[in-house]
Amino acid sequence: MYLRFFAKETNDPLHYAFDKKIAVHPMARGEPIPAHKAQEIWKGIMEKEGGYGKRAAYFHIPFCETHCLYCGFYQNAYRPEEAEKYVNYLIRELEMIANCPFIKAHPFHAIYLGGGTPTALPASDIFRILKTIRDILPLANDCEITLEGRIYNFGDEKIFASIEGGVNRISIGVQSFDTFVRRRVGRIEEKEGIIERLKFINSLDQAAVIIDLIYGLPYQTIEIWESDVRQYIELGLDGVDLYQLNIYKGGRLEQAVKNKKIEKPADIPTQADMFAKGVEIMKRARYIRLSQSHWARSTRERNIYNSLVRKDSICIPFGSGAAGWLSGYFFYQENRLSNYYQMIDAAKKPIIMGMKRHPYHGLFKNIEEGLESGTLDLELLSQRYNLDLRHIFSPLFKQWEEVGLIRIKDGLCELTLAGEFWYVNLCQLMIDYFQEISKKRLQ
Ligand code: SF4
Repeated sequence: MYLRFFAKETNDPLHYAFDKKIAVHPMARGEPIPAHKAQEIWKGIMEKEGGYGKRAAYFHIPFCETHCLYCGFYQNAYRPEEAEKYVNYLIRELEMIANCPFIKAHPFHAIYLGGGTPTALPASDIFRILKTIRDILPLANDCEITLEGRIYNFGDEKIFASIEGGVNRISIGVQSFDTFVRRRVGRIEEKEGIIERLKFINSLDQAAVIIDLIYGLPYQTIEIWESDVRQYIELGLDGVDLYQLNIYKGGRLEQAVKNKKIEKPADIPTQADMFAKGVEIMKRARYIRLSQSHWARSTRERNIYNSLVRKDSICIPFGSGAAGWLSGYFFYQENRLSNYYQMIDAAKKPIIMGMKRHPYHGLFKNIEEGLESGTLDLELLSQRYNLDLRHIFSPLFKQWEEVGLIRIKDGLCELTLAGEFWYVNLCQLMIDYFQEISKKRLQ
């Protein structure tokens, strides 16, 4: 019955360790809580001081100017009048919690404006949101404030409004510099325009400039991928994420491939080669590896929000479609705009579902954090959680080591290159295995 937790017996684990690759964050099962109960829990948390660990807040901007073919996060088409209305409501949502003891109790260390496309908003709306955040939330002096977006329609006025509003980290989804590859998946700007704008933002020297690149896109050969990564290095930007293409089931990309409207994206073994090539180039360029997919050129890229998300930290959600977690619960917010507006009008936090976290949520986050960094210290975690984790995971580790996904050295579990490529699978399998074993012991 435990066979599904083992890798395939192969001499080539980088390409063939598992049949399917998991591309989204590892998750543990929690206990769902209905909306009205979740609302009460939220209110109860907000009324008390607490949550003294590192804190982040996430603001969701659920609009995009185009619908990229591969995207699983698209919510609404951008329309100026709708976006303006939405920003008014987002600000009201923030004002609703302004005087809560929980919010005032401790500084925030990371603010993230994500989406969707926050850079689709006009300069005045970007500034309005940032100003309200700074007026209401107690921000730490060195708080990281990230604006996510794209180069298309991110003109000077918006860039200056962001910086004036306090943004110190700009994260741009480039995906590929190759104009043909970009246009085939619904990206608009051409290579030269992107390079020119990135150079301009970087030359202002006011914020860390980060880009996302995706490997495995249709028409993106390994040579194009190599030139994408090299182009990033040539630009001298502060950080980069090298992501694997995720084909969502029933999504537009899957449909387009099925209907032969677009070339089939790279298969998993080819993606593994692309991953290995990206790792090699970044290593040679001596960039600092912050996670399995993220590199920094210098200490200017601190990557605080993303590292807090992977830890057992606090994240307060704002906006339609946002999610957050605190005090042992996950909270999911309404993603239908009309319902979101109605809830704010009724002076309610727009939560539509909650989830009580698994009792070992902290352990799962530590496993994720360890594997994400490339080294997992099971001795330390065993002491922290009073469990013999080396013994619990020994069947998996023995097999994974034989196959070549991990190395056990001085009580530490280190990932090989193949393990790095499959690390989300390994992480999810460890979480599932632990849950399975604990269930069995309780029976
Ligand atoms: S702009 Fe970003 S969020 Fe919007 S559809 Fe494209 S990839 Fe998705």
